[in-house]
Amino acid sequence: MNFSSKLLENAVEEFSKLPGVGKKTALRLVLHLLKSTSAEVHQFSNSLTTLKDNIKYCEKCHNISDEVICEICSAPKRDNSIICVVEDTRDVMAIENTHQFQGLYHVLNGLISPMDGVGPGDLTIESLVKRVQHEDVQEVIFALSANMEGDTTIFYLHKKLKDFNIKISTIARGIAFGGEIEYADEITLGRSIATRVPYENTLIR
Ligand SMILES: [Zn+2]
Repeated sequence: MNFSSKLLENAVEEFSKLPGVGKKTALRLVLHLLKSTSAEVHQFSNSLTTLKDNIKYCEKCHNISDEVICEICSAPKRDNSIICVVEDTRDVMAIENTHQFQGLYHVLNGLISPMDGVGPGDLTIESLVKRVQHEDVQEVIFALSANMEGDTTIFYLHKKLKDFNIKISTIARGIAFGGEIEYADEITLGRSIATRVPYENTLIR
């Protein structure tokens, strides 16, 4: 691309670093912002820097939060005895939308993926083990995507948790292999939580 302005080129460069945004889309977005008022552009950039500077991760479940302990963890109505383990905040949002789950979450912040250099130590697994040890947890549900990384992560977590006196289950795979949880429709996802199965039953013997 031949830019008529270095400033324009820099802005396009930044936008095209975003996932799924190519140079053409980046240019379209930047030109759109350029047509907006100064106040609008400042509001746009402020919301991003304020987000980055002020966002917290819940000390308990590691979900993105405005407070040290997130709204879900601090809600008195939630069932503290069940923890649903998910990859990231998008899954929490998807499951909350189903209104089928009243327990708490644990956000791993990724999945084990040796190909991408992500090992167990990069995730919040130790913190999950501590919660099971010290909190009144009776059941852990794995709600991870049905792909290689999800399966590897579940296998590892199960090894870490199997000696505790808790129920370990996995959401029913109404979600096809390779299916991402965040894309599952609410009814399918809600049902797959309600009809979860003991993890051991899913292992091929
Ligand atoms: Zn929390």
